[in-house]
Amino acid sequence: MKILVLDGDGIGPEIAGATVRAVDALNHRLNLGLEIERADSGLSSLEKNGATLTDDVMAKAADSDGVILGPTHSIVYPAPEDGGINLSPWFRKTFDLYANIRPSKARAGVPAMAPDMDLVIARENTEGFYADRSMYQGSGEFLATEDVALAVRKITRSASQRIAESACRLAMTRRRKLTIVHKRNVLKLSDGLFYDTVLDVAAGYDGLEVDEAIIDAMTALVVRHPGTFDVVVTTNMFGDILSDLCAELSGGLGLGPSINAGANHAIAQAAHGSAPDIAGKNTANPTALLLSTSMLLEWLGDRHGREDLTNAARRLDEAVDAQLADAAGRTADLGGPLGTDSFGEAIASRIAG
Ligand code: ATP
Repeated sequence: MKILVLDGDGIGPEIAGATVRAVDALNHRLNLGLEIERADSGLSSLEKNGATLTDDVMAKAADSDGVILGPTHSIVYPAPEDGGINLSPWFRKTFDLYANIRPSKARAGVPAMAPDMDLVIARENTEGFYADRSMYQGSGEFLATEDVALAVRKITRSASQRIAESACRLAMTRRRKLTIVHKRNVLKLSDGLFYDTVLDVAAGYDGLEVDEAIIDAMTALVVRHPGTFDVVVTTNMFGDILSDLCAELSGGLGLGPSINAGANHAIAQAAHGSAPDIAGKNTANPTALLLSTSMLLEWLGDRHGREDLTNAARRLDEAVDAQLADAAGRTADLGGPLGTDSFGEAIASRIAG
């Protein structure tokens, strides 16, 4: 089984380094037979090869079973015709990665504003308000006159159905509760369609409790009663914003993992960005990418019926939890003394031990 690792930019190479170390340790300890390849991407690839994502790396990604993608600093990329391909949307669009699964869970012993939070956001990932992916041709955002900017928000029954299926399946493996987050009081047609579709899908899952929340009320509710939510299903932009809020409440951006999954491909990606302010200082927390990788291993385990990969995911999760439980075992963002390297080393030796 092939895993492709793309470092990305900023703190990407540091957190990807720590992650590769952990995966290597799992590979040896559990004999997983994973072939791990690291390829150039982002700004370093632009400098060396003229593109942030080369044809060769695109082909490698298509041929791999899973990709671990570091954060990218796409805001400084040149135009795509000058080699500045934004990796994240490229993968989401090309591989039709329709489900962005973002857990927010307070980790034992780690200070968090919401210590009882343990929820997962299932965010629709292919349409909504994102101008670069909502149209077949052309942009979903345009100027009607010099002073009038319009944006198209696309909601379809089929995309709503598939994210609903992912969310319901996930909820059935957890506390069997699904919250549909929307703004159907205002966006009556589009969010009405999303809500009705999710409700129809959820009706097929016996024993699943379903409720709903309007997005603005939801931002207050996750602060007030964070422990009451299990799986939250929502549209693209609401999910993007809500998941950062939940990551912060559950302990910080450095802890927020995510996976982007489609029918045939999945990509592990930390929820945070490339943190250029701390890049190269060996202070970044690799936890989010490590936990994203654990989600990828679990996805691969499910997809290929390989219990050893599911066990590897659990082992990686447990190693991270054990490491974070001790204040002396944390990185600077959580008030600890460890650098990215020594944190990665500690995780690898917990796995090996
Ligand atoms: P980008 O432009 O790539 O989105 P950003 O700095 O605007 O980068 P984030 O990377 O999400 O956005 O960072 C927000 C803040 O959180 C920064 O101060 C950053 O240093 C901090 N941060 C983000 N990720 C981590 C991490 N893994 N470890 C430690 N601090 C982090």
